[in-house]
Amino acid sequence: MNKQSILQLFDKHYSDRYETYPSSIKSEKDNYFFLIKDNQEKYLAVVGKPEKVKKFGNNAPEEKRIYKNELTIKICYLNHYNLKLLREIFPHLNPSFCGLRASFGTGDRLGIATPAHIQAFQGKDIFPVLAQQSVREMARTERNWQKVLDDAIWGCFEAGYIGPFGADADHVKEIKELKEAVDCGFTMFTLDPSDFIRNDTERLSKKELEQLNNQISNGKEIENLYLNKKYKIDEQELIFDGESLKEIILTYSEALNHVMECCEFLKDYKKDKFDLEISVDETPTVTSPLAHLFIVLELQRRGVDFQNLALHFLGDWQKGIEYIGNIDEFAKEFSLHTDIAKNIGGYKLSLHTGSDKFSVYPIFSQETDGLCHIKTAGTSWLEETKVVAMKDPELYREIHRFALENFEKDRASYNLTTDLSRIPNIDELSDEQLVDFFDKIDSRQLIHITYGSILKAKDNEGKYIFKDRIYKVLFQYEEDHYRELSNHIKRHLELLRT
Ligand SMILES: [Zn+2]
Repeated sequence: MNKQSILQLFDKHYSDRYETYPSSIKSEKDNYFFLIKDNQEKYLAVVGKPEKVKKFGNNAPEEKRIYKNELTIKICYLNHYNLKLLREIFPHLNPSFCGLRASFGTGDRLGIATPAHIQAFQGKDIFPVLAQQSVREMARTERNWQKVLDDAIWGCFEAGYIGPFGADADHVKEIKELKEAVDCGFTMFTLDPSDFIRNDTERLSKKELEQLNNQISNGKEIENLYLNKKYKIDEQELIFDGESLKEIILTYSEALNHVMECCEFLKDYKKDKFDLEISVDETPTVTSPLAHLFIVLELQRRGVDFQNLALHFLGDWQKGIEYIGNIDEFAKEFSLHTDIAKNIGGYKLSLHTGSDKFSVYPIFSQETDGLCHIKTAGTSWLEETKVVAMKDPELYREIHRFALENFEKDRASYNLTTDLSRIPNIDELSDEQLVDFFDKIDSRQLIHITYGSILKAKDNEGKYIFKDRIYKVLFQYEEDHYRELSNHIKRHLELLRT
């Protein structure tokens, strides 16, 4: 039997109740595996010799002997147990090391976007990081590392994807979280030492700076390594003069210690290869080229083997909208950063809050010569909410009103210039006009940052007010969901010159 005849055989028995995803089918010897759905949810269908398919199931909702009892069809839930078995049979379902290839992260807050993301990557020479979620996002979406990874892998299976992909445990601040992510099988770790980065050094007097520096263990030793050293970076010369150096050491030394500790833990605990990103993007101040140089030299001196470095680049980086700032000034300063990276070598520059920064992409990829990583997340959620607005306007209206009520509370952790008064009154708009909200920055940000409140909201009986209905609409209109989302991610990827 071949794949085609297995699918036909399945249809013969089940076409009244289940629809198949033909591109998902994979075989191993005489056993076949593919994804199906009824009008409620998706399942894994396993067809094969009875003794072979026995281990699958785990409360399989259905099982049937066919073909003169020689074959069993089993319909199984999409749970962790079944996925583990699949990953053992098909190693391409395991995330892998990326290294210095150009890469792009597609965070997926609902856990159902991966097939659309994969479509967007088709024909592109860009390594996809399909599982990517930060600790903060997980709390807001009530998910965990295992769920994030499993959802992405089921998405790979559904799409029939056999290429490589990464899994990024994003913005991790503690070793405990790193350990959990390693245990679940993540392959990339983004360390966020921002709790250890001092942000008051510019306000300190010379004397205070001196005093605080003296308290840093081996601060003097570090200072002696760099004081008055000149680095010729392309046309420019960067010098660590006394005061700037003291400021930089004080700002980053605790953070570097923390990174080192995390890196030692990973090297020891994660037995196989992994990608390491150091992110200092969530700081109140822009990372200067001199600070960039210092961070990298220190990481290397301390033996931290990292692939990506995320800096706080010049400009105003807000969620889900275009870059705000002078793009020429950004380009000028950014080229100095890329010169530093190229001079020292061995790592990629990483751009966070990459959603919808269309004007930045060509510069970012070109200047780095493809030694770049970009992260997006919220933009996928926005596309998904847009599909809700298109297909279930009443639900969208409820979400929109709820978001308005929660905006002030939710904006606290973001850097935003959103002005709610610029958002038209939803009661005065027709259903067809709702989709326009997704073209305007204020309404995009309104929905972008309130996702946690929207997804967590429950009624008096403890039932989700929006979450289940959002999933239902996107399940029912899956084709529209995948099309809108993959087109939007494609718009991002097409701007990358790799
Ligand atoms: Zn970040």
